Amino acid sequence: MVKEPGRFPAGVAGTVIDKIGYHGFLTFELELDGVRVPESDRLTGLYGDEGAGADAGGFAAVQRGLNIARVHTAARAVGVARAAVEDCQLYLQEREQFGRPIGEFQALRFALADMAAEVNQARAFWRQAAHLLDQGEAAESESAMVKLLATEMAVKVTNQAMQLHGGNGYTTERRVERYWRDARLTTIFEGTSEIQRRIISDRMLGKA
Ligand SMILES: Cc1cc2nc3c(=O)[nH]c(=O)nc-3n(C[C@H](O)[C@H](O)[C@H](O)COP(=O)(O)OP(=O)(O)OC[C@H]3O[C@@H](n4cnc5c(N)ncnc54)[C@H](O)[C@@H]3O)c2cc1C
Repeated sequence: MVKEPGRFPAGVAGTVIDKIGYHGFLTFELELDGVRVPESDRLTGLYGDEGAGADAGGFAAVQRGLNIARVHTAARAVGVARAAVEDCQLYLQEREQFGRPIGEFQALRFALADMAAEVNQARAFWRQAAHLLDQGEAAESESAMVKLLATEMAVKVTNQAMQLHGGNGYTTERRVERYWRDARLTTIFEGTSEIQRRIISDRMLGKA
């Protein structure tokens, strides 16, 4: 863990937490000590209307933001899985074993077909959920469903992509190991898969 002095406003300190993937952004443990936020810095717009209090509109406003973030995470999952499929499509034609490209082995061809179909299925659902949000609907169930399905799909597809790359897949010489590590986060942040299942089932059966 590395302290990052000077990065934050007065009263805020952050310590970088090492991660196994998603190195495109840093993750911090934050400490707040006597921090005051000016009125002009209150969040508005995406995360709700100005003046929404924690007791009334505040929680609903945060929920709206979370629904958007879940559909956003589904898009990330689709993207990383799609990249894994594209790499596999190339690798199956490039890598030769037993005197022929491994893409001639039916088991691998069918695995690639399943992966491509699952990515497209998740992508279609993601577009549907994003459309609902664009129409101004809360889409709470749909956001949870697409987050659950797209991220679990990404874990499965990137895992299979590593398998199709054989030993090369487990090295840092191929991008597939990064897709595998990055996909793994998507089932955890913005609410775990278990929490998405809870949101969906609560909507269907009422809160347990
Ligand atoms: C790289 C990274 C970036 C992040 N960025 C942000 C960010 O920008 N903003 C932010 O607010 N958070 C962020 N988070 C936090 C992230 O959203 C949480 O880690 C995630 O929601 C899971 O919460 P938790 O870690 O407290 O797990 P826990 O709640 O401790 O869960 C542990 C296990 O218990 C299960 N579980 C917990 N409650 C229930 C329940 N009621 N029913 C069934 N199972 C349950 C979980 O599914 C999980 O399997 C980030 C996390 C990571 C790793």
